[in-house]
Amino acid sequence: MAEEPLREQLIDPVCGMRMDPEESPAVTTYNGRSYYFCSDTHKEEFERDPVHYAQIAAREEA
Ligand SMILES: [Zn+2]
Repeated sequence: MAEEPLREQLIDPVCGMRMDPEESPAVTTYNGRSYYFCSDTHKEEFERDPVHYAQIAAREEA
């Protein structure tokens, strides 16, 4: 039985959707880490208030 490599699962902090970095259509970098989004719209939303959404992301992934 082959073992699946551990794939990073990250959350789109705008809508809370789990994103696969390899399939994410939108990505941005803030404070030295990458954030993945389900759409450009949510990436733009994040960039309007990165402090707020970065806090949400930290909480969701804790
Ligand atoms: Zn989203």
